[in-house]
Amino acid sequence: MKNVDVLGLYSSTYAEAREKFLTACQTAGLEVEHHVNPERGVDGEKLATDVARLGAADASKVMLLSSGTHGVEGFCGSAIQTGLLRSRDELALPDDVAIVFVHAVNPHGMSWSRRETEEGVDVTRNLSHHKYDPMPNPDYELLRDLLVPEKISEETLREINRAAAALMADRPRDWITRTLRIGQYTHPEGLTYHGLTACWSTQCWIEAAGNHVSQADRVMIIDLHTGYGEYGALLTQNPSYRKTSPPFAHLQKWLGEDPAGFSDDGSIIEHRIETFEALHEQCRPGAEVAAMYFEFGTVTMEDYINAWIMNNWLYLYGDRSSERAARARAAFAHLFYVREDGWKKSVWQNGWGKIQQLIGSLASPVR
Ligand SMILES: [Zn+2]
Repeated sequence: MKNVDVLGLYSSTYAEAREKFLTACQTAGLEVEHHVNPERGVDGEKLATDVARLGAADASKVMLLSSGTHGVEGFCGSAIQTGLLRSRDELALPDDVAIVFVHAVNPHGMSWSRRETEEGVDVTRNLSHHKYDPMPNPDYELLRDLLVPEKISEETLREINRAAAALMADRPRDWITRTLRIGQYTHPEGLTYHGLTACWSTQCWIEAAGNHVSQADRVMIIDLHTGYGEYGALLTQNPSYRKTSPPFAHLQKWLGEDPAGFSDDGSIIEHRIETFEALHEQCRPGAEVAAMYFEFGTVTMEDYINAWIMNNWLYLYGDRSSERAARARAAFAHLFYVREDGWKKSVWQNGWGKIQQLIGSLASPVR
């Protein structure tokens, strides 16, 4: 860590982030699996999810560390992955431990400054939900035309906000956020769309897990996100495990405390399932498996829904090469990736510290 140029870990574009990650893999002598995406990026660049393994091929304890599941959030996760590779000597990985890096689960979203994939899918929702029958979300239907209007302008956004306020009049304060968190299966052009089948990113993620964790005794899945919590701080979050479940107990043991999270609130019960179920299925029966989110806080999210509506609309219906679309991408990206030295250093220090601690937990004897 002492020898790492922290600010040099971060990138301005997906292509730059990928280049840094691949170079770090090459320097470390790692083979890389390239899952090439059929689409192209914002500058016409090739898109791929890249997978590399640091540590023994037969290590029985595996950390599966992924970035960019929510596309635009991937710059922070990519920096941490590249930093771990560059500082691998100081990391002193125990013999029986491996880290599998899944770089840019959703490269299309990362390049285009979107949370969604090329199919319009939110990957965290698609990952396991694609296996289940669609579930209606009647509240989303009320918001549908507001979130994806026919036309867009500052005036349209003001109208949308007025209409949303009218809807909110006799509903709880967190109604919109909650409705979006529950997600929906009906509108691929909308927000928080689950998808009806496994999207490209989900398929790659499951394949990477199948290749690398199926023999392990202990599998610690860490999915790196941004946009929630205090500025530059790290929150280790329970993705959706109920507090009575074995994975929740694993998280408590590994972290030495309860993970932050929302396992027992209403919206997850409406989700019916555990978010990482599809990755759990790649592990052998009896293995100790659990997943967590790392959430790094960014800026105050006051107008994030407006920025999201604008960016989504311009991507789908506007001129993607226009200055206006570029400004909307930048405004949305700013909510998830702070171009400020103090934030970048804080994210790296917090991420490094927690991963170092978790490698210790991973290496401890199984049962
Ligand atoms: Zn996220």
